[in-house]
Amino acid sequence: MVSLIRVKTFLEDIREGRTDPEEFLSGVREKSASIQERYSPFITINPDFGSGKAASGPLGCLPISVKDCLCTAGLRTTAGSRILDGYVPPFDATAVSKAKAAGGLILGKTAQDEFGFGTFSTNCAYGAPKNPHDAERTCGGSSGGAGCLTAAADFPHIAIAESTGGSITAPAAFTGTVGLTPTYGRVSRYGLIDYSNSMDKVGVISKEVYDSALMLSVIGGYDPLDSTSHRADGEDFTKYVGKGVRGLKVGVPKEYFEGAAPGVEKQVMDAVHGLESAGAIVTEMSLTFTKYAVPAYYIIAMGEASTNLAKYCGMRYGAQEKVEAEFSEYFSKVRTHNFGEEAKRRIILGTYMRAAGFRDEYYMKALRVRSLLIKEFKAAFGHVDVIAAPSMPILPPRFDEIKGMSPMEAYDLDRTTTAPNLCGFPTISVPAGMSDGLPVGLQLIADHFEEGKLISAASSVEGDFD
Ligand code: GLN
Repeated sequence: MVSLIRVKTFLEDIREGRTDPEEFLSGVREKSASIQERYSPFITINPDFGSGKAASGPLGCLPISVKDCLCTAGLRTTAGSRILDGYVPPFDATAVSKAKAAGGLILGKTAQDEFGFGTFSTNCAYGAPKNPHDAERTCGGSSGGAGCLTAAADFPHIAIAESTGGSITAPAAFTGTVGLTPTYGRVSRYGLIDYSNSMDKVGVISKEVYDSALMLSVIGGYDPLDSTSHRADGEDFTKYVGKGVRGLKVGVPKEYFEGAAPGVEKQVMDAVHGLESAGAIVTEMSLTFTKYAVPAYYIIAMGEASTNLAKYCGMRYGAQEKVEAEFSEYFSKVRTHNFGEEAKRRIILGTYMRAAGFRDEYYMKALRVRSLLIKEFKAAFGHVDVIAAPSMPILPPRFDEIKGMSPMEAYDLDRTTTAPNLCGFPTISVPAGMSDGLPVGLQLIADHFEEGKLISAASSVEGDFD
């Protein structure tokens, strides 16, 4: 859509002194402002972007955008919610500090559904980003701003995003970008504003597979500040780019194609056939518990979210009001005014499903379904290396279509993304061409800590649709 200065080329040019950083950064500032005017990917643009920084490190002065649920020192962080308006964290999330230490420059904070609650970024208190392929359509969610900016920018840039149940895959598919959701625990969650702690993962949205691999190499690795951080050294994931797929076993689960739009199915199967032509071994397979993933996901996610949101009481961070009554009344007033409709829905449902008397029927049952899903996927990974499916079952919907959807209809669109997220598996969404002028994403899922296989396979697909 836009002429691309590749990240890889840019970093080489910076290192060799062929690009003047000052000139480049002032161009990026101007272009970001005009992208913001047209498509609104940002909640906050960093007023100090790039000032007085010399290019250094593996990300030598590369513009980095950060989803607004990750804390950034000195830069407003709202997680898309009015209740956090005015919150300026005194510290950086680990992923952000690692990107900065590697030479990345924080361009701004990208728009998202409030606390990650959504699939279209329309549940954002600061306005929904518009899809650069068709401004009447969504960029997906909840990391919609990250997808939007990545698709719209013709300057080199990488977005740090987050997924709980598909929030990287959906925007990547809808904006024609690459979305890498790592294994749970691969990237530190320190400084991430929680949605659902047992599923939240910090990941990447980028123009090319190489860029996602590069960013994962920078932000991944053990962090003592996150008790669920995986104890392993960092790895250079760029070595998997272009490695080829000869002999790679790719499973295609039929359940993931049920109800998919014909154009989506066609593009995804074209991409799978491309993998086959490049030497992969493709087999059909079945994942029979798929239909239980959406209900199990929403029970667990809402249960955890309702607990996490209890801390927003108008006292410690963000929105405050005049204290005129006792605390419980004040607390209710602040929350009534400052949480959006979807956040309220999730607080009510999550509290209900965890309550004594309902806990066994909903929450505990959902945990058992989660174990069954993990077992079924683990058995599948005994036979295949990666699983291929549509990233999203539909093309990006128009905003007026989204308005007409019930919450259940919207939740059901997460049917291809919730199972891998419940199980903590890594996934990648890679562009698989266009249908009716709109992008389609191929989703690849691998076993825990097998991001390398995803990167190899996705880079092979990327070559077919250039
Ligand atoms: N659409 C899903 C939800 O609303 C996923 C969101 C996410 O991954 N943060 O919960």
